[in-house]
Amino acid sequence: MRKLPSEPSSVTVIKDSANRYFLSFVVEIQPETLPKTDNSVGIDLGIKTFATFSNGTKIDAPKPLKKRIKKYRKLSKSLSNKTKGSKRYEKARARVAKFSFGMLRKHSKLKDTRTDFLHKLSTEIICENQTIVLEDLNVSGMVKNRKLSRAISDLGWRQFRTFLEGKAEKYGRDLRVISRWEATTQKCSCCGFRGGKLDLQVREWECLNCGAKHDRDENAAINILVAGGQSETLNGRGGKHKTSASGSSSLC
Ligand SMILES: [Zn+2]
Repeated sequence: MRKLPSEPSSVTVIKDSANRYFLSFVVEIQPETLPKTDNSVGIDLGIKTFATFSNGTKIDAPKPLKKRIKKYRKLSKSLSNKTKGSKRYEKARARVAKFSFGMLRKHSKLKDTRTDFLHKLSTEIICENQTIVLEDLNVSGMVKNRKLSRAISDLGWRQFRTFLEGKAEKYGRDLRVISRWEATTQKCSCCGFRGGKLDLQVREWECLNCGAKHDRDENAAINILVAGGQSETLNGRGGKHKTSASGSSSLC
């Protein structure tokens, strides 16, 4: 159990859809400050890897989520391949329904895991960086496939951004969101050359102009950082610098 920072001015009892009870306290807190840092980071969000930082760090989503999303996608794909009304269709439909029911039951547990993961990750990013650049995500517009877009929203991109926004404001960090129309994936982050559109399967590529070898997501993250106005990274690229969490605030 965590100690409250000060005497609460009110307490509310909340019951969630899984019949769990929570106590919500309202407490006054002193605004906290974090030590200033020169670090900045561009973040590319993805399905395969949850987040890739412009320094090359890759963050995976918690496994149970990924596995379940994958399974759900597999099941619903097998359903869509079958003729409606056929025996095979009914069998597949039952499987999807059963799985969905199980998902529903486990949903609150999953939600906790995800929220916890997103809190930890956003805190770490805020601690380590003065400027954080994200791509604007319009999940529903970006992904035409509705099932896939649901899987994506299950990964929590939106919640992640909300957490980052809140923490950036609270701790005086600069969160910038760039337009998603920037060609972050196709552009070589070394020379600016624009290659063609990359198929989602292509994880690594070589620039036709300068010969630089790129990890797809890392290159995108660097471009996101540059698009956010942190252009010094264009020249500072090469060695991967490690960032480490340090600071005197209780946050880090
Ligand atoms: Zn290049």
